[in-house]
Amino acid sequence: MRVVICGGGVIGACTAYFLSRRGVDVVVVERTEVAAAASGKAGGFLALDWCAGTPLDALARRSFVLHTQLPHEVAGNWAYRRMTAYGGFVAGDDALRGTPSALDWLSSGVVIAHRLGTTDTTAIVHPRKFTSAMMNAALAQGAELRRGRVTGIARDADGTTAKGVETDGGVIEADGVVIAIGPWSLLATQWMRLPAVYGQRSPSIVYDTGRDVPADALFLEYEQSSGAISIEVFPRADGSTLITAFSDVAPLPVDPATVTPDQDAIERLQAIAERLSPLFRADRIIARQACFRPLTRDGLPLIGRVPNCEGLYVATGHNVWGILNAPATGEAFAELITEGAARSVDLTPFDPARLPPLDPSLLRAR
Ligand SMILES: Cc1cc2nc3c(=O)[nH]c(=O)nc-3n(C[C@H](O)[C@H](O)[C@H](O)COP(=O)(O)OP(=O)(O)OC[C@H]3O[C@@H](n4cnc5c(N)ncnc54)[C@H](O)[C@@H]3O)c2cc1C
Repeated sequence: MRVVICGGGVIGACTAYFLSRRGVDVVVVERTEVAAAASGKAGGFLALDWCAGTPLDALARRSFVLHTQLPHEVAGNWAYRRMTAYGGFVAGDDALRGTPSALDWLSSGVVIAHRLGTTDTTAIVHPRKFTSAMMNAALAQGAELRRGRVTGIARDADGTTAKGVETDGGVIEADGVVIAIGPWSLLATQWMRLPAVYGQRSPSIVYDTGRDVPADALFLEYEQSSGAISIEVFPRADGSTLITAFSDVAPLPVDPATVTPDQDAIERLQAIAERLSPLFRADRIIARQACFRPLTRDGLPLIGRVPNCEGLYVATGHNVWGILNAPATGEAFAELITEGAARSVDLTPFDPARLPPLDPSLLRAR
């Protein structure tokens, strides 16, 4: 059995790993490079139970367990570590501004109000290193990685069965096709009946903080005259710390390689980072970047069979939890494709058929 996976982000890489582990002949087609988009620029934060009470809970719990196991099964070092997560706020011009922070690496006035997660429930990976390691493990199991842009689905004569993908380098024949091109899945609505997938852009700055910042993830509210914003701080075991805030809805560039941050957003983020800790100095910045996370109308991913076409599957829309939920997505996909149904998690809440398909003429009209 041969399966083509479109997209070399974390979802494509994990699906390639679990499928090739079952002996499936896998070809991954990636337009730019592995982890070129959000999967290389995310925070990498993982939580066991932060999706409790939502349809994502089982997927997140299974993924968290797989994230603990994968470092023992897969070659490479992607800086997996357990961490503590805290919530709080940055004091404005009030009496709290001079109060020493409960965490000694933070500036005074950064108020830690509660602990959100412990080393039993929260962890982190370096997302680009994790995605690359999963892809490399898939390649070691016989998968193939091809650089190319997927432009359509090859079908049988009556159009009801996928026979492979059309790319800018020709047709790649296969028995199954998985669409995992993140927010660019919006373009795939021209090739198949698929609900809309949107891209939400976030800027981030990565600092080289070495061992100076401990394993404390932060989720902070920052009061501004225009209203409160949420800031997230993710120190990783390789000595890099990613800080992100602000999301905006910007046009998604057709070419993933041309995603750039808004300069004004980066400057505001840098000013906030400098308010958080003297460790976030300008001379320690190693990346100013932006990425688009894929999301759907109801906030849940699309994971499963594409309606009305045998052999066609989609896995996208993982929103803020794509790095966390990639392993269980890949594992469930391998079961679905090779056994006909997912056993490890129930994919019913993520059935692509639950949402109406986007009218492709709307996209062409843009
Ligand atoms: C600032 C930020 C912080 C985040 N932090 C976290 C976090 O802490 N924890 C967490 O779990 N998640 C986090 N996320 C979310 C996570 O990054 C995403 O959900 C996840 O990376 C999506 O992975 P993907 O594989 O679906 O898509 P992508 O990473 O976008 O990968 C899609 C791939 O498809 C390729 N492609 C596109 N079009 C084509 C085509 N036509 N043919 C072939 N290839 C194509 C692209 O080049 C790209 O490599 C964060 C996201 C952002 C933006």
